[in-house]
Amino acid sequence: MDRATFLKKFGASLAGFSVMGLNSCGNPAKSYLKPSTGRVIDAHMHIDIASIKRYLQIMDEYIIRFSINMGVTGDDALLKFMDAIKPYKNRLGALYAFDWTLIQKDRHFFDKAPDMLEKAVKAGALGLKCFKNLGLTVKDRDGSLLRIDDPRLFPVWQRAEKLKIVVSFHSTDPKAFFEPWNSQNERWQELELHPEWSFADRSKYPPRNQILEHRNNVIRKFPNLNFQGCHVGNNSEDLDVINKWLTDMPNFYLDVSARLGELGRHPAEKGHALFTKHQDRMMFGTDHMFRKNGDVQGAGPRRTFSKQENDKFYQSHWRYFQTYDKQFDHPTPIQGQWKIDGIGLDNKVLEKFYWDNAYKLYKLELFNVS
Ligand SMILES: [Zn+2]
Repeated sequence: MDRATFLKKFGASLAGFSVMGLNSCGNPAKSYLKPSTGRVIDAHMHIDIASIKRYLQIMDEYIIRFSINMGVTGDDALLKFMDAIKPYKNRLGALYAFDWTLIQKDRHFFDKAPDMLEKAVKAGALGLKCFKNLGLTVKDRDGSLLRIDDPRLFPVWQRAEKLKIVVSFHSTDPKAFFEPWNSQNERWQELELHPEWSFADRSKYPPRNQILEHRNNVIRKFPNLNFQGCHVGNNSEDLDVINKWLTDMPNFYLDVSARLGELGRHPAEKGHALFTKHQDRMMFGTDHMFRKNGDVQGAGPRRTFSKQENDKFYQSHWRYFQTYDKQFDHPTPIQGQWKIDGIGLDNKVLEKFYWDNAYKLYKLELFNVS
């Protein structure tokens, strides 16, 4: 559908969300947006124990009713975190992440791993998070790279299936991180701040597509296990591929955290169509990180942020999903200085995106989340 038809079809239904209008460009929002559905689940963020009370206030401020801490590494840390959120079980949840260094330290790690996962789930973990080190840097005992689809990990996925939990993969990173580390790189500002995020050296790191394929092998091999692909499955640069993955793998869910900068570069019609077509498996997330030594707004430096800056961060999220505004700032400017266009999702789609999908996937009715 062309832009004119698109706007005619969907524009009218959005009048209630924003008074910014379809012709506004390159500017701050004219109205203070709120999530159109009145409540939100953040299906991908990070928080330490010391920041829980502070974050609960942020949640109230931005109508975030429940947030999922996307990965606590190691058994002790997980138990401590679960203990700390006991009074807030209807507000906060967490995923468990393996300490992969145990592969080197314990020759029986692979045999023990499924029971470790079960123990974490019994302690309250909502699922298993695999950080990007799996497939990229985690080494086997002989020093070779451990593939995500290594059969020795199958018992872990099988146990996850039995426990009916979610497995969340942050595999690889933006395309630019696999391209040469120099000032010509599109993400130079970010890579200059974080040289350790460059995976361009093919003698050290496997190709990006290969890692994603190994991840997808696991998702296809375990069709009864639900997977969360963090950061738009880490391929927000290519919505055609995302569409193909979602079409081919019905057990694959996506969160959008820290990728609005990339999503908003695509034609609005394309983003709108993707989120509408796969409306039952897209989830809101920010990658907002809260730590006692400073916060990170999805990407960029760790520091203290003002209320105004937090306003802007969340506002640009609502604006992208709820309006057709053109050429406004995305939430993570360090990822690139370009502007983005909103995709004005229908309210029915937003209900699922902001709430229903994560609520169902993580069975949040068990915790009286409302
Ligand atoms: Zn994250």
